[in-house]
Amino acid sequence: MQKLMVATGLFFASAVACAGDGAQWDYSGAKGPGHWGELSPKFTACSEGRNQSPINLSNFIESELKPIGIHYQAGGNEILNNGHSVQVNYAPGSKISVDGHEFTLKQYHFHSPSENHINGKSFPMEAHLVHADGEGNLAVIAVMFEEGEANKVLAKAWAKMPEKSGDSHGLPSSVAAEDILPSSRDYYRYNGSLTTPPCSEGVEWLVMKEPVSASKAQIEKFVHVMHHPNNRPVQVVGARPVLQ
Ligand SMILES: [Zn+2]
Repeated sequence: MQKLMVATGLFFASAVACAGDGAQWDYSGAKGPGHWGELSPKFTACSEGRNQSPINLSNFIESELKPIGIHYQAGGNEILNNGHSVQVNYAPGSKISVDGHEFTLKQYHFHSPSENHINGKSFPMEAHLVHADGEGNLAVIAVMFEEGEANKVLAKAWAKMPEKSGDSHGLPSSVAAEDILPSSRDYYRYNGSLTTPPCSEGVEWLVMKEPVSASKAQIEKFVHVMHHPNNRPVQVVGARPVLQ
């Protein structure tokens, strides 16, 4: 169990912790997003925070963002269903650099429909590639999916789809994170939060401008396994700039 918790990282560990102190959360009803801040003293950022995610990205500020340095290795070796998403855990060694600051890829997971919107547009699915630095600061690369041709990364991952909450499977041929990214690496950048409790702030959001494609069947397979939408509604942008 200890090994599993370490391997599966932040999101699964927090789900386990929540189950322990009675503060389970959900995407609808009495434990839905509008109530997350009331469910545990640890979740107050969900209601009190002023830099929350997701958002509708618009009113972009031109700022000549430097390219993200992407140094990924093939390394997605486990897929799990934590009840809130389906997540691929990543072996150590894959890094990005943002303004010379290095983050290591921990895992990627999916939301349907998308959590962030771009110019008011929602997408049928969004991937979050979650990275952490040595101090636990997070940087998330978000990739939007639109319906079209089948996606080869999802084809590999979904072949081992963990159907029930708590299920996990090994991935025999590792699923490379780089293959999720669009060919253009242009991105928007804003400061936000985790989109799930405890909604911690200080997360660097790097949202790819160009969507990638997934087939209708691939999107529906994810929705079917989740049984419900797993997107937090968009949050108030406030004074935050969205850079491009
Ligand atoms: Zn996410």
